[in-house]
Amino acid sequence: MTTYEPIIGLEIHAELMTNSKMFCGCKVVDSVEAEPNTAVCPVCLGMPGMLPVINKKAVEFAMRVALALNCDIQHHNIFARKNYFYPDLPKAYQISQYELPIGTQGWVDIQLESGEHKRIGIRRVHMEEDTGKLTHLEGNGSTNGYSLVDYNRSGVPLLEIVSEPDIHSGEEARAYGLKIRQILRYLGVNSGDMEKGVLRVEPNISLRPLGTIAFGKRTELKNLNSFKALADGSAYEIARQAEILDAGGEVIQETRGWHDAKRITFSQRSKEEAEDYRYFPEPDLPPLQISDEWIVAVGAALPELPDAKIARYQTDYGLSEYDARVLAEEKEVAAWFEEVVAHFSDAKVVANWILNNLFQLMNEHKQAIGEIRVTASGLAELLQLVAANTINNNTAKEVLAEMFVSGESAEAIVAAKGLAQISDETAVSAMITTILDQHSDQVAAYINGKEQLRGWFVGQVMRLSKGKANPALVNKILTEQIEQRRS
Ligand SMILES: [Zn+2]
Repeated sequence: MTTYEPIIGLEIHAELMTNSKMFCGCKVVDSVEAEPNTAVCPVCLGMPGMLPVINKKAVEFAMRVALALNCDIQHHNIFARKNYFYPDLPKAYQISQYELPIGTQGWVDIQLESGEHKRIGIRRVHMEEDTGKLTHLEGNGSTNGYSLVDYNRSGVPLLEIVSEPDIHSGEEARAYGLKIRQILRYLGVNSGDMEKGVLRVEPNISLRPLGTIAFGKRTELKNLNSFKALADGSAYEIARQAEILDAGGEVIQETRGWHDAKRITFSQRSKEEAEDYRYFPEPDLPPLQISDEWIVAVGAALPELPDAKIARYQTDYGLSEYDARVLAEEKEVAAWFEEVVAHFSDAKVVANWILNNLFQLMNEHKQAIGEIRVTASGLAELLQLVAANTINNNTAKEVLAEMFVSGESAEAIVAAKGLAQISDETAVSAMITTILDQHSDQVAAYINGKEQLRGWFVGQVMRLSKGKANPALVNKILTEQIEQRRS
């Protein structure tokens, strides 16, 4: 049987979160929440004689993305008409970029689950406008099916990010898609909400016998509504094509849909070639010239990107790569972490508390970092109480859970509940004497070598103190008192 090398390239369409549309003044609205066809005008409805005007903010957002993906920015940009007929496209053409896209020849680094890093080339980043949205309703035997169209989305700024065919598995496709989404979120240009369709990922997949050069016939996958669907759909398609080739058949170049429930791909339509779109320069728009000054200004205003942040967390804070990566996953979490560190400088302790305790509470309560009642300075205050031995770690965990629900400060909770740790030697010593007097059999057994009883004694003291005894002090005095009883 032949071994095949899967070749995958990804097209990612990302709507840009500008206030207004790409070529008119209509507001960009939430395509799921907003009343249909309420954010429309003659330009985005494709009325004859209406003239488009380029949205400068959308160009700036496109430059942010192109620069973050290490692309060369083209100074001379041309918009082109991409002609095709479909009910969601009222002009019967889409204004896009064809020969001269805003960004070319970039790259992005991804990390696989094995920890392996890989660089994926970015062929181009170009600007275009989104289409309207169709909703198909099925007939029920007595009535015909029909379709509804909402033009709120028509003309929303859209960015197309096209990778080089450097991706070789469903897992790599997923890692690449996740990385692009993370960067778009960091840049504040896209929410990454695939369920709302503001980010759409389309892989094209082909196989070639390992060691050969020519590309095989490719299929393009549509309707992938999650990164899991991207990984699974790509893997399915690789297996499907291998089976066809092994049987001596030929893969048909076509667009295929992904059936999320059945977890299979299915044929949708034969794939258009570029010549089918009859591209030509958009006569209603002048060429867009981008100056060096503008490129420099946009580049200087870019936020710190995920890879740089992860590296900094390791060098400046001494975090492991894994911890740094998880903290930097979302820029809001990273900012929150850094705010805690500004108030409590032991970054490793802060990282542990966020990764182990805070995340657990956020999962339990299904809250994002922006929704929680615990503030960054509030967590720092809690950690200061632990560092000062006012409360121990276990008590601190309970206090954090309480802070999470009530929004009260750590100090207020500790005071109201009398949770302050007992660090008074006389008091702790008295409790230990009580426990050892009550359990003389166990003391004798311990002295005769049953060492595992030590933890049990500590547990008894902690119970007697309602968890408030300073554990280090308990251990120290316990050793002393047992030594005295040994003689
Ligand atoms: Zn409009």
